Amino acid sequence: MARLFFNPFSGRFFTIVRRRKRRKAPVGADVERLRAQAKAQLPPRLAELAALHGFTYSGVRIKNNVSNWGSCSVRGNINLNLRLVTLPSELQDYVMLHELCHLRQMNHGAKFHALLESVCPDHRQREKELRCYRIK
Ligand SMILES: [Zn+2]
Repeated sequence: MARLFFNPFSGRFFTIVRRRKRRKAPVGADVERLRAQAKAQLPPRLAELAALHGFTYSGVRIKNNVSNWGSCSVRGNINLNLRLVTLPSELQDYVMLHELCHLRQMNHGAKFHALLESVCPDHRQREKELRCYRIK
């Protein structure tokens, strides 16, 4: 959003663009409870899914953020949002499979989708459902 202002000294119009403030992830007792639950549940499930589909990753971290459910680094580390444990299990699996596929395809191109399709045939449906959940 930009508003137009007039500078009488230069005789020109100018705009001020207001940047939206980045949302910060909440902290507190609730988050710590979720973190403990996430640390207990997510790494074993990720290991299980990786073994099942032949993926190897360097490590897994549980993150407190509101920008994504999961991410994957070029070094082969997988980051999972601690709020994943609040989602239905098939969506938790979907996020983990999605990130595991990024170990081989660091993009969302055709090869990535073919790989995701092979390990999670109903990924389109799950992606759609996932969009109904806002990270908060
Ligand atoms: Zn992705």
